[in-house]
Amino acid sequence: MSRWAIDDLGAGPQYRVMTEIFNGSFTQQEPIPQDGIAAALAVMQHGRLHRYNTVAGEIAEATLLEEEFAATTDAKYCLAVASGGYAMTTALRACGVKHGDAVLTNAFTLAPVPGAIAAVGGVPIYVGVTEDLVIDLHDLAAKLPQARVLLLSHMRGHICDMDRLMALCDEAGVTVIEDCAHTMGASWQGVSSGRWGKFGCYSTQTYKHINSGEGGFLISDDAEGMARAIMLSGSYMLFGTHRAAPPPETFAQIKYETPNISGRMDNLRAAILRPQLRDLATQAARWNERYAVLAKTLAGTTGMTLPHRTEAERFVASSFQFLLLDWNPKDVSEVMARCKVRGVELKWFGGAEPVGFTSRYDSWRYAPSAAMPATDRILAGIIDMRLPLTFSLDDCALIGRIIKDVVNTVHQGAA
Ligand SMILES: *Cc1c(COP(=O)(O)O)cnc(C)c1O
Repeated sequence: MSRWAIDDLGAGPQYRVMTEIFNGSFTQQEPIPQDGIAAALAVMQHGRLHRYNTVAGEIAEATLLEEEFAATTDAKYCLAVASGGYAMTTALRACGVKHGDAVLTNAFTLAPVPGAIAAVGGVPIYVGVTEDLVIDLHDLAAKLPQARVLLLSHMRGHICDMDRLMALCDEAGVTVIEDCAHTMGASWQGVSSGRWGKFGCYSTQTYKHINSGEGGFLISDDAEGMARAIMLSGSYMLFGTHRAAPPPETFAQIKYETPNISGRMDNLRAAILRPQLRDLATQAARWNERYAVLAKTLAGTTGMTLPHRTEAERFVASSFQFLLLDWNPKDVSEVMARCKVRGVELKWFGGAEPVGFTSRYDSWRYAPSAAMPATDRILAGIIDMRLPLTFSLDDCALIGRIIKDVVNTVHQGAA
């Protein structure tokens, strides 16, 4: 997927510079696997797409998917839902967050996270980010007394020291909900991301690790919390058909007290997801191979910092980040523009205006924040790139060479 362009500097052929260009698409995921397509066709042929529409002896695809996802993450309970955002709002509601309650969350995350807090009438309190792109535990410790819940976003798959974070939150009596939109298949010290807090929330939207267009999961070991979540999702009195769920007696009182706020997953999406879930570990390894090629190509680039990752973190690199720390914004824009001309689409978290999927905490004006200068410095330097599995390892090496070349050129020009 490459081609060469020749920049003729007008000084004769010996001075021509060969410029590599990338031609791939940063938003093109792989097709749905054949067995997913076959399973989807079977659901469409029988027509029972609603998860509670089953015939005698039949177990719904959504129910089977929940059992399989619970087993994958080693969770007791799992609920499949309509989106990752819905998973988060449901977890917040199940934890009793009410109108006006403060909820701690990451300053470095994406709009659905503060949006989930706003959806339940909560007030986000942002916690800073470190150069390794994880939540700043010092800032968190200082802010813990202000809230009873932390919605922790493992943004772009970077996992903080979870032992330390849980110790801090447990001591302060703060309930942790994990946003695992970018950490499906990832773990810290061998424990799945999503298994540290009271709830783990996942997305199966097209750009995440398994793809049903839209969709999500909630996992938990907390029987009462999960019973509430199942009722909230719109189970009516059919919760007994769930399998990765707490026993019926847990619902005895909850079924009367919990409103139905529909957000179920249907059998069609579940059918598409089940084969993808079986492939998750293989796909994770393929993402990480691509990440390794990029990291190797970019290592040692002057003016660029790559986030440091520890042995304890088993990540799934569906995207790649680097920092141009303390660069002049004009030069960062120049890097973005030159990469774009050569086919490399980068996203800049430091941009003043929200663009595409990228926005920063101070552009969420419904949820204002105190100034965070240390975090602003880091956000201003974060460059982000998608890493779809349709890229080959050669593509990743090429992309790495282009970025390195551009960063070198702009950095030298600025020096
Ligand atoms: C995508 C995403 C979500 C929400 O997922 P949806 O399924 O799109 O609602 C939550 N958090 C982060 C960090 C995300 O990137």
